Amino acid sequence: MLKKSVVEQIQINKLMATATDTTIAQKLEALMKLQGIDSALDNILKVRGDLPEEVRDLEDEIAGLETRLAKFQAEVENFNIQINNYRNAKKDSEKLIVKYKEQQMNVRNNREFEAVSKEIELQGLEMEIADKRIKEIEFKILNKNDEIGGVESNLFERNKDLEIKKKELDVIIAESEEDEQKLLKDREKALKLADERLLKSYSKLRSNARNGLAVVMVSRGACGGCFSSVPPQRQTDIKDKKKIIVCEHCGRILAGVNDPLPGEVKEKKTRATKVSAAAAAASAE
Ligand SMILES: [Zn+2]
Repeated sequence: MLKKSVVEQIQINKLMATATDTTIAQKLEALMKLQGIDSALDNILKVRGDLPEEVRDLEDEIAGLETRLAKFQAEVENFNIQINNYRNAKKDSEKLIVKYKEQQMNVRNNREFEAVSKEIELQGLEMEIADKRIKEIEFKILNKNDEIGGVESNLFERNKDLEIKKKELDVIIAESEEDEQKLLKDREKALKLADERLLKSYSKLRSNARNGLAVVMVSRGACGGCFSSVPPQRQTDIKDKKKIIVCEHCGRILAGVNDPLPGEVKEKKTRATKVSAAAAAASAE
């Protein structure tokens, strides 16, 4: 009885062990798949390059130019109002001068005549000043219109650039849109299969890694992300897939070990054998 239950327990343990083994392996596989999809998406974005940003920059620049243009135009409008005010003031002065000249005809003495003359002179001066101001403002308008012309031609050029860049971007997006959509769908599926906790570290690793790689294979004895060497014992553990193992240097998840090319195996193995043989000899002495 006891024997039987022990055997059963061992069997259950074995089964459970296999279950966890496959789970870790499956988790790694799911993560590798996600990595493949994300890397493909990264490549699509890489092909688009700086274009999306250039389009955005141009749009910002155009918005800035339009604001400046509106500001200049408002300034010109304000100048015109000022000119109008001076012209109205001139008209008032003219009217006053006509009135004063009539008064001069009816003065009773020299003193009154002089006083009215002073008023006429004053209004004449007011009109001269108004003329001077109008000329100054007209000059300002000329300068402002020059600036407006500059902004307008700049705006015209920028709009042309934007149109070209937008078309370019549209073509590139159209070329990869189908692939992108498919990858995004695949990504949704891959996300559902991925382990939640692993996914968290995956996202964190990916955002920190310049090459966007969070899960890598060990190739030629080195981490596929940072190329630091991975000790043989660690490689064995990775191959076993009994637990999640990360690179000691960069923290990337090591999903498996790529078998080296046949040529490399020989070279490396002989060197390793020689070293271990020498070590064995040394310890034997
Ligand atoms: Zn690494």
